Amino acid sequence: MNQINQPIKYFLYARKSSEAEDRQAASIDAQKDELMKIAKDQGLHVLDVLEESQSAKKPGRKVFNSMLERIYKGEANGILCWKLDRLARNPVDGGQISWMLQQSAISQIVTFGRTYYPTDNVLMMQVELGMANQFIRDLSVNVKRCLQKKVRDGWMPSGAPIGYLNTPNKQKGYKTLERDPERFPLVRRLFDLALTGNYSMAQIWNISRKQLNLRTVPRRNIGGEHLSRSAIYAVLGNPFYYGWFEFPLHSGNWNKGAHEPMVTKEEFDRVQKIMGRSNQPRPRHEERMFAFTGLMKCATCGCSITAQAKVKRCKNGNVHHYVYYNCTKKRYDAGCTEKHVEVKLLHLQIGAILKDIRISEEYRDWAVRHVHEVRKTEAESDSIAIRTKHKECEEVTQQLQSLTLNFTAPSNKARTIIGDQEYQSLKSDLLRKKGLLEDELKIKNKAVEQWAELSEQTFDFACYAHLWYENGDEKTKRAILACLGSNLTISDKKIQLSYSSFFLSLIKARKAIEQEIENARTYKKPGHIQQKWHHVPLLSVRLDIAREIGTFWKTNKAHIWLPNIKQGFFGITRPTEAEMAKYK
Ligand SMILES: [Zn+2]
Repeated sequence: MNQINQPIKYFLYARKSSEAEDRQAASIDAQKDELMKIAKDQGLHVLDVLEESQSAKKPGRKVFNSMLERIYKGEANGILCWKLDRLARNPVDGGQISWMLQQSAISQIVTFGRTYYPTDNVLMMQVELGMANQFIRDLSVNVKRCLQKKVRDGWMPSGAPIGYLNTPNKQKGYKTLERDPERFPLVRRLFDLALTGNYSMAQIWNISRKQLNLRTVPRRNIGGEHLSRSAIYAVLGNPFYYGWFEFPLHSGNWNKGAHEPMVTKEEFDRVQKIMGRSNQPRPRHEERMFAFTGLMKCATCGCSITAQAKVKRCKNGNVHHYVYYNCTKKRYDAGCTEKHVEVKLLHLQIGAILKDIRISEEYRDWAVRHVHEVRKTEAESDSIAIRTKHKECEEVTQQLQSLTLNFTAPSNKARTIIGDQEYQSLKSDLLRKKGLLEDELKIKNKAVEQWAELSEQTFDFACYAHLWYENGDEKTKRAILACLGSNLTISDKKIQLSYSSFFLSLIKARKAIEQEIENARTYKKPGHIQQKWHHVPLLSVRLDIAREIGTFWKTNKAHIWLPNIKQGFFGITRPTEAEMAKYK
């Protein structure tokens, strides 16, 4: 069956899959173009052009198999392809090609580099096909090794949980997890809400949709959706958020992550308790009779503070109800000697704290106005900045495109214009630049939206919290105490806490602010004040505080939840004038 002297008919076979092993291969169209050129140059008769976009690592390609069948039938007796690895990357297909060549069913395989004949040393071809096969095997070993290294380095190899992003500008296999500037603070708010113990899962779910508008990262076809209730439940129970991850999933192998944790282990554990995930009894707020249980710790021994109600009947028939808070004293070895404290005393103390941060309605109105004015001017200058950044971003994208075009152009086939290394380094520079620009854009967009609202909430809280506290139910009282700061403890019957920084500023500046307002009130030329507000040195304190609070929310250093009176959280609204008048 020697067909060498007969004219050879060729199948042109072009193949590229989207899988890793074919990433370096030229596109199907490029393969076809180059091969047609070869056919023209060498005067080869191409019977049919076949293409396939499937990996060759396993046998079972349709187009390839039907091509071999047609060759067996005698339709053609030559194959034209870019490289042997286009034909086969597994020993089954490789063996078949090699056997057909030895049997002269195939008279020639013409590739870009060389031509294979039945008379060739079989070994050469086997070696080449074997290499294509080995390449696949190395690749999968490399992928595994790469994953293991990634896990050892502390990077969870799967997709980033909400609140985090896989760094997009890094090469595959070297991606790390970074905070998502847009979603990180929102997810943290969910934890904060859970930590107050005041919200059921359904309420947290509602807030995530209606108030935070938390959505998943939009991708090509999916994403951009609100989280489902069960997804939020999963987020609040995922140890990833305090810095650990399991890999492989369900293996029980826990690894310390290198990513920035969102919550501490203690916070996470507390949320699990509140959600009823551990064996601890679930503090359901419908059943809670006491405002502050589970919120505070004993300063002496670190145990939780709990509460109990006592009824005292006097001889004259009067009945007195008391509520006491006391250390659970679960650590017997600590020898805690803290005494119980009556709830009235706690209310007095919290009332005093709220008086300390209290600002006048006058200052509240002024500050809110000021903040929104600043926001407006900033939004204007920001929109210019955002437009400029957008343009820069587009330019980089264009540079990337033209770089790739130049690199893959036929004129650069010999890599004389742009070399491989040069291309890689130019490309990664541009990608890095693009990633940075995109991050900046995200942060800018976010900053414009939120800080003014949050500042307004801060002023509202400072102004009205004492009223809400006095008139609110147990649930409201509890939430207000939780807003004030963290590390709530009781020591010697006194509440202690680390204030949120802006409350500290308010406490420090309160006298000066009120003094300024008083001075302004008694100032003789009211029109003059409006104009020179910022220039009168005495009036600068209130401006400083408003700025300080604005900066705080802009930089979003902490994650603090405050009630929003516009949305009427737990019935909290701005008090009416009559209500306010009572307290003046
Ligand atoms: Zn104690």
